[in-house]
Amino acid sequence: MPFTIIRDDISRVPADAVVNAANTRLQYGSGVCGAIFEGAGVRDMQAACGAIGSCPTGRAVITPGFRLPARYVIHTAGPVWSGGRCGEEELLRGCYRNSLALALEYGLKSIAFPLISAGIYGYPKKEALEVAVSEFRSFLEGQEMDIYLVLYDRKAMDIGNRLKSSVR
Ligand code: ADP
Repeated sequence: MPFTIIRDDISRVPADAVVNAANTRLQYGSGVCGAIFEGAGVRDMQAACGAIGSCPTGRAVITPGFRLPARYVIHTAGPVWSGGRCGEEELLRGCYRNSLALALEYGLKSIAFPLISAGIYGYPKKEALEVAVSEFRSFLEGQEMDIYLVLYDRKAMDIGNRLKSSVR
């Protein structure tokens, strides 16, 4: 089962879980994080994240989705891009792997990812997409899950369309 690339606002996607491009302090922020907190209800999401406390870069934690169409939010802290020689790729792979492992642990059937780290954190979009695609492919070799990669801006979508034709 291949994964699916869509263009949408991730806070509107009705998957079992949507993934938040979180910060390590699990605090309300901008971009994906802002959309997810606002869709869920900022107060409820802040309380749930506050109870967990923090999330190291490359790891993932889970909360309810509250008022989102998604039942759960998996929060993962992507690496900040600092040139590519500081372990960014392995950390980004960890975001996808650990989020998918949590989804399996919770028995989820569908999950929607944003392009983690490719916004404010500065990871080049093409490389970020390649990491996402390769992690989805290796996960789907051994497991069944409906995986959606939710792209937002045109540049990411153009690169995604080119990649899609090579993975389908
Ligand atoms: P990070 O801090 O990990 O870089 P961002 O939220 O800044 O995360 O951006 C990650 C990617 O998600 C970027 O490509 C950005 O264009 C995209 N994005 C921003 N808002 C949304 C949204 N509401 N839904 C889906 N993708 C989004």
